[in-house]
Amino acid sequence: MDALPTTIRRRLRPNAPANCREAATYLQAYLDGELDDRTVERVAAHLEVCRRCGLEAATYHAIKRALARRSAPPPDALTRLHHFAEQLVTEGPR
Ligand SMILES: [Zn+2]
Repeated sequence: MDALPTTIRRRLRPNAPANCREAATYLQAYLDGELDDRTVERVAAHLEVCRRCGLEAATYHAIKRALARRSAPPPDALTRLHHFAEQLVTEGPR
């Protein structure tokens, strides 16, 4: 079913876990607590099974937490953030 466009797939299975593209779209709003309950559940379900998106979410979460404390983000989180940015430049958005 992954070959179908996301909008059609979502209409057919409204509660299905998010895919990588949807997780990327909703990630910042997810971390900021700005999503409705159903979308939160779908994104969370994806982050549990997708290592890459889960790692990306953990990275942003660590950086946001550090910035909220006005302290320096953990070096490993910054390294991963650089890695994600480099992937975005070389591979394009997912
Ligand atoms: Zn993913």
